[in-house]
Formats: sequence, C-alpha cells, structure tokens
Amino acid sequence: MTARVLVVDDVAANVRLLDARLSAEYFDVITAMSGKEALEICDRAECDLVLLDVMMPDMDGFEVCRRLKSNPATHHIPVVMVTALDQPSDKVRGLEAGADDFLTKPIGELALIARVRSLARLKMVTDELRMRVLTSREIGIEAPEREAVADTGKNGRVLIVDDRPSSYERIAAMLGKEQEVEVNPDPTQAVFHAADGNFDLLIVSLGLEHYDALRLCSQVRSLDRTRNLPILAITEPDNTARMLRGLEIGVNDFLIRPIDKNELLARVRSQVRKRRYTERLRDNVQQSIEMAITDALTNLFNRRYMESHLGTLLEQAVARGKPLSALLIDIDFFKAINDTYGHDAGDDVLRDFALRIKRSIRGIDLACRYGGEEFVIVMPETDMAVAAMVAERLRRRIAAEPFAIQQGTRHVPVTISIGIAALRGPDDTAASLLKRADQALYRAKRDGRNRVVPDAA
Ligand code: GH3
Ligand code: MG
Ligand code: MG
Repeated sequence: MTARVLVVDDVAANVRLLDARLSAEYFDVITAMSGKEALEICDRAECDLVLLDVMMPDMDGFEVCRRLKSNPATHHIPVVMVTALDQPSDKVRGLEAGADDFLTKPIGELALIARVRSLARLKMVTDELRMRVLTSREIGIEAPEREAVADTGKNGRVLIVDDRPSSYERIAAMLGKEQEVEVNPDPTQAVFHAADGNFDLLIVSLGLEHYDALRLCSQVRSLDRTRNLPILAITEPDNTARMLRGLEIGVNDFLIRPIDKNELLARVRSQVRKRRYTERLRDNVQQSIEMAITDALTNLFNRRYMESHLGTLLEQAVARGKPLSALLIDIDFFKAINDTYGHDAGDDVLRDFALRIKRSIRGIDLACRYGGEEFVIVMPETDMAVAAMVAERLRRRIAAEPFAIQQGTRHVPVTISIGIAALRGPDDTAASLLKRADQALYRAKRDGRNRVVPDAA
C-alpha cells in the first residue's frame, strides 16, 4: 500500500521537510502552498490524506478543513492538522472543523509516520466500500454522503472500559449529556460486552490497573463482531511508545490526561460520525449485493444468480457422487389472471406463490424466479423419484388453496405445470439440465396443464 499524502503549508521549507520524511517511508507526496490549491486537489480526488498547516494567509487550515468536511465529495478524506498551537481550545477548534488528528510542531518522526499510516489504512477500507457503493447508486440505492455531512456525531452508543471508578465516573459524566454511555469496569468481560452491544465507540483507558489495555484493543480488532468498532484510548502524558503501539494495533484516536472536556466531546463526536458513515456504506454494499442476486417482486433468487450458482451445485453433486434435480414450474393461464383482475392481482399471485414455494422446500434447495411466471427449484441430493414427489405435493397444494387478490376480497384458483430433470452424470451441464426440464414442462402443458412431467431419460 502506498497512500498519496497532500502536504499543505505556505512555508516552502515546511513543505520540503514533510515531503522528505514521508517520501523516505515510501508515501507518495504531493504539495500545495495555499488552502485554495489544496481544496482543488482534494476535489479532483487526487489524494488519500491531507497534512494541513493551520496558520496560512488568505484561508487558514480550520477553514480549509471545514470546507473539505462539509463537501460530500471530500468529507471522507482524513485531515491531520499541523499546528504550533497546542492549547486544548485550538484542538477543539480543529476537531469542530472536522479534523481527524493533530500533530504539533516540531513534529516527531515516529508520531508522524504512525498516524499517517493508521489513517491511510482506514481510508483504504472506506475507499473500497465507497467504490462498491458508487456502483450500487446506479441501481438506485442512495449513497450516504449527505447524511454523513449532516451528522452531528451525537447520541452515539459508547462503551467505556476502565477499572478505576474515579476515572470512568468523570468520563461518563462529561459524555452523558450528548452520548449514550455504558461502563464496563471488568476488562476481561469488555470484549464480549462490546461484541453484544452494537456500540459506535469503545473508550479504553490505557492505564488499566489489572489488565493490559493494549491486549484488550488487539482482541477487539481480531474479533469479527468488533473488528470495525472504533477505539479511543485514554493515556497518561509522555507515553509515546504505548501510543505508537496502540496505533499499530488499530487504536483510532488518543486523548491525553488530564482530560479536557471539550476535546473529549469533540473527539468522540468525530469517531461516532465516522463510524456511522462506514456502517452506512457497509449496509449499502450489503443491500446492493442482495439486490443483485434477488428478484424484487418475490424476494426469491433471480435468474442470473441461479444460472451461475447451478453450475457450482452441479459440480459439487458430481464430485460427491450425489444426485441433483431441478423443477421448472410455470403458472397455468397466468395471462388470464392479469387480463381479468389486473396486473396488481397478478403480482399478488406471484408473491404468494413464491411464499408457498419457500414453505415447501428445504434450506439447501435453491428457489428462483426464472422469468415472468416461471420458477426454478434446484434440489441437491435429490433423485428423480423424490423430486417427483416434491413436485406433486407442490402442485396439489397450489391447486387446493385459491390465491387471495385485491386485498383479500377475492380468491382465484391457480394451477401449475412442472417439468423435472435430474442430473445424468459427470458430463451433464446446467444448460442441458434446464433444457430437459423445459422440454418436460412443454409436455405437461401440451398434455392438459396442472400436472407434473419427468424428463424421459
Ligand atoms: P400457459 O398456461 O401456457 O403458461 O399460459 P400463460 O398465460 O401462463 O402464459 P403466457 O406466457 O402466455 O403469459 C404469461 C404472462 O405473465 C404474460 C405476462 O404479462 C405475465 N407476467 C410476466 N411477468 C409478470 C409480472 O411480474 N407481473 C404480472 N402481473 N404479470 C406478469
Ligand atoms: Mg404460464
Ligand atoms: Mg410462461
């Protein structure tokens, strides 16, 4: 991984210094001498991270940061403020402008590289998700940028892990007004608590008395349920070595004692906001994956998914020497339902039909909507004789109970015809299997409908 870092400073010597240090660590460095120039570069999505000087003529770093963070196109780019000011009030100003981190001049080499690395790593995760979400926008899922920019970062769920009451009581009191806070004073239980609680942020005191807090952080990072949970570590001053270890392990942010209330609030808001953004991205990705493989009307798998998956199921069956069968089902005279009761009534029948299919198959069977009123059920480990029983049972159930339409005010009788094909051997293919099922279905239709016909081997 080589992230591209934008260094922004109005003093050429400062730019050169940071450029040299970052280049030595194989970061790709680009530079800007003014806020305006920096905004243009970010707008063109040409960098992964910004090191931003605070004191600049024309537009200062706070303003540049504010603009980056309020623009949906650039808000996700991490910004590290580089400042000679280190009053808590300056930090709070920066955090409120949306800065992700601070480095105080003169900049320590280790701190610089560790922070840049840790933020660049997170940026890569976000980029990966964003890329997939951009594609999902094309199929109509709203991207979460607008919500992210408007998010106040308040009302998050925060878990504090600290075994000293005097410390956690203070932190909880400071945060209580704007976040939902829980405390766990037992570090050995905290990982489980974190995994079960659907939290937005974990605050860990690095000075736990009876447990190695960095071990806890690394456990949180390695567990599936908590891998993406941000961690804010609270540390004693002059503990740089442990902070650097923390960054390597995946701690997202630090707060140094004595805790400044406003800085705590601002850092927590910033983590909560980022967390919600990436969770929204993840949801979107999940949703688009589901949309890509399911049929919207019936929630069954769609044809494309079935066709690509059927090949795999066939191979598995051949490899294990197991049978496999497929049913191709077509609703009889479906056009007449549309013509008589309207298209909505037809849709009601299709939805209810899909539900009845789901209720009559096993978990390992694959049900899909193959076309308008055609469905396919693939049944692993099922030979022709069993498949014929399943098909016959389904046919009877459909014919026995009329379908509700027009909000349940009417019921229409429905029948189906089914063609069955079974795997013939190692040379059989998905296409050939479906073709044989289709030929059997054709015979079922020709011979009078409302019947099951097996492929005559
Ligand atoms: P057969 O017994 O020969 O299968 O007759 P059929 O009327 O069922 O077959 P045909 O293929 O002539 O008509 C299928 C109809 O299904 C035509 C089409 O308008 C309708 N259809 C396809 N997709 C949908 C859908 O999503 N909703 C509704 N309501 N109708 C659909
Ligand atoms: Mg039909
Ligand atoms: Mg049809």
